[in-house]
Amino acid sequence: SNKIIAIDGFSSCGKSTLAKALAKNLHFVFVDSGAMYRAVTLYFMRNGVDLHNHEQVQEAIDAIHVDLIPNGETTKVLLNDEDVSEAIRQMEVSEYVSEVSALSEVRKAMVAQQQKLGKRRNIVMDGRDIGTTVFPHADLKIFMTASPEIRAERRFKELSAKGEQVTMEEVKTNLAHRDHIDSTRTESPLRQAEDAIVLDNTSLSPEEQLQFVLDEFQK
Ligand code: C5P
Repeated sequence: SNKIIAIDGFSSCGKSTLAKALAKNLHFVFVDSGAMYRAVTLYFMRNGVDLHNHEQVQEAIDAIHVDLIPNGETTKVLLNDEDVSEAIRQMEVSEYVSEVSALSEVRKAMVAQQQKLGKRRNIVMDGRDIGTTVFPHADLKIFMTASPEIRAERRFKELSAKGEQVTMEEVKTNLAHRDHIDSTRTESPLRQAEDAIVLDNTSLSPEEQLQFVLDEFQK
């Protein structure tokens, strides 16, 4: 049967970098579940969806179709056939995504779609609740951690390289804000699965992280 590797952890711990490297090495499909929540959030922002209005939220969810298209080293994210790969990485989306992701209507729809993606293919999926909720029977579960300083520094560099005007303080505040909401929401909060292997990458190179997980996967 097909294999599933789940990678969870707080924001900016290097999950997607590792997940991409793993997928490439094993010839698995990489699925960025966060990109799906970001695309939904972009739709909500553009359409002024009221998060407290359950009917409006459900209507919006029913009108949204998110596709992830593997595109070389990256993934193209389509929101109702529009390429939003760049737009979903903006700071404005980062600032709102955890509020949207906490809604049960949103989680229900996204989890169902993610489970479908893992039905027939070998996948590496990264997110917050992959090992706990989406694939509780994943073949391997990794829970990534890194020091808050390193995480903020990495994200700051990433955003600055893209020309985004942010300060280190704003990045730190945003990471703390998302971590707080992601881990305290009622619907599938961010948790380390009991059978997850912890990977602290504060002082590990990308190659060392990849080797660590490959070794675990082959055990
Ligand atoms: O992975 P990324 O940082 O792009 O995720 C953005 C946000 O999407 C997270 O902060 C979280 O609020 C939400 N998310 C989630 N469940 C996942 C993946 C992401 O709630 N499986």
